[in-house]
Amino acid sequence: MLTHKSTKRGFLTVEAAIFLPIFIVGVLTFAYLIKFMAVQERVFHAFVDEARALSSEAVFTKLKPLNFESNLKSRLYLENDTHISNVDIDHFYYLFSNGTYGMISMDLNYDVNVKLPISFYSPLPVSESLMFRGFVGKTMDGENMGFDEMEKEKESHLVWIFPTAGKRHHEKNCIYIANEPMETSMTSSIRRSYDACKICESKRIANGSTVYVFIKSGKVYHRGSCPTVDKYVTSIEIEDARRKGYSPCLKCGGG
Ligand SMILES: [Zn+2]
Ligand SMILES: [Zn+2]
Repeated sequence: MLTHKSTKRGFLTVEAAIFLPIFIVGVLTFAYLIKFMAVQERVFHAFVDEARALSSEAVFTKLKPLNFESNLKSRLYLENDTHISNVDIDHFYYLFSNGTYGMISMDLNYDVNVKLPISFYSPLPVSESLMFRGFVGKTMDGENMGFDEMEKEKESHLVWIFPTAGKRHHEKNCIYIANEPMETSMTSSIRRSYDACKICESKRIANGSTVYVFIKSGKVYHRGSCPTVDKYVTSIEIEDARRKGYSPCLKCGGG
């Protein structure tokens, strides 16, 4: 009986000697993955959070990738201590620089170093990419309105200008304005009242995009690139027109 018992104990010891290290490695690997995912999630959350703040500032600032990068870096190092290293922002594009209107895109690269009792894990590189729209208020080149201006009750006084030609402002019925294409947004009502242009294939324009219609004479809507739209008119507050250097039209008095 005694020998049998010791044999069994011996077998158990051998079994433990084989499986315990595997078990420990398994547990450590699992612990490592959990820690790794926690770090990765915290970093991604901060990345998105800072990006959202950046997006909301796009209207006020010409975005500075350096500022953004240093802000994000200090936040990430603060939140993650030594668990990450080599934080780097790459491929920062804003607005027209990559041909995607109003979009901000960037890559975030960093290494995760989760410390474990055993040291055969080396820093693991992680890369995240974001693309989002910079909030610019409106897509036309209006000035930002100050708080004082916003509080002022002011009657709207619109005049008409050619943003791409001339420095006069006009009243709506001025002979110079009447036959020119007007800049407006594509809506279903425009789709109903006007036909699509066959030259510029404006039928494919999405609602909300900029289109051009001839107020008095036309029955067709166009893209800005259409040859029939070489200069267009748009309405603007008279004060903005003055500030931008427009002076009254000599024919109509400027509106
Ligand atoms: Zn005029
Ligand atoms: Zn056209």
